Amino acid sequence: MLIDGHGRKVDYLRVSVTERCNFRCQYCMPEKPFSWVPKENLLSYEDLFKFIKVSIDQGIKKVRITGGEPLLRENLDQFIKMIYDYKNDIDLALTTNGFLLPRVAQKLKDAGLKRINVSLDSLNEGTAHKIAQKNVLKTVLSGLDEANRVGLKIKVNCVPMKGINDGDLLDVLDYCKQRGYPVRFIEFMENHHAKDSAKGLNSDEIKAIVSQKYKNFKAVPRDTSSPAQYYELEDGYQFGIIEPHKDDFCEACNRIRLTAEGLLIPCLYFEDAMSIKDAVRNDKIDDAVDILKKVLENKPEKNKWSTQDMNETSTRAFYETGG
Ligand code: SAM
Repeated sequence: MLIDGHGRKVDYLRVSVTERCNFRCQYCMPEKPFSWVPKENLLSYEDLFKFIKVSIDQGIKKVRITGGEPLLRENLDQFIKMIYDYKNDIDLALTTNGFLLPRVAQKLKDAGLKRINVSLDSLNEGTAHKIAQKNVLKTVLSGLDEANRVGLKIKVNCVPMKGINDGDLLDVLDYCKQRGYPVRFIEFMENHHAKDSAKGLNSDEIKAIVSQKYKNFKAVPRDTSSPAQYYELEDGYQFGIIEPHKDDFCEACNRIRLTAEGLLIPCLYFEDAMSIKDAVRNDKIDDAVDILKKVLENKPEKNKWSTQDMNETSTRAFYETGG
């Protein structure tokens, strides 16, 4: 079992397989041209897998593949199969923008993937286009249908932004409710790469919008393994809100993040990280275990999004760390 320096059990590893993305979401990516990390700096699937094995052996029970857009990395199904074949009872999940799902959902399912989280910020074609800076909605919706058809369990992520998609939240909720997908509204986390004017809705503002249509919903007792606070509508459908600005948000944090370049990151908010690249490339598995333990020892107690000081917030982009 892995325990961090604040006594929290850590059993969840998020692995970003690429920082590249085929969307340019306003809350995540810069508008100005920027350059990607050269491919030779990325860890191969074999090297990423070496660290995943170490983590599983040490107590990780849930692995989520993310990015950038993870489906842009070739042969992702083979990587998923490597993890599945190593330990098939791992909770193996993927976070994606859904655009490539129509082509690959079946392959991912066959490889052993169990669950996906798909980002869906609006059901209005123009708004979705404005957020992603690309005409994406129809393809993402077919991706969701295909993922559902092949039997992947689906959750939807939506980042409510002031003046952009705040008028679309009820539509997203209803779309998900009709299909039985839990939707989680994620409070926008301020960062150095988002569009300067980007402003998110907080949890109270999101709840006020939901209550325009659903008067009576109640908080469900918090499952500490999930970052979301869930709420139940009268008909039993549950939606969640992820509130990183809330003071006790990090109390039960159970996660660490690995980037495609091999940086192991204990907290999304802070810059601190250690590289496992040399350890895995040189097959120094004991060194990888030591780095894992050091990162856990030094995992910060809590983020500072509530009092955010942009000088202190990590300059690393969410498309590198995987969000
Ligand atoms: N490309 C994939 C996708 O779109 O889901 C995976 C990577 S994305 C960085 C992972 C998650 O982070 C998405 O649900 C996205 O909405 C969320 N995210 C990105 N930037 C964010 C921000 N500034 N605040 C809150 N959530 C953010």
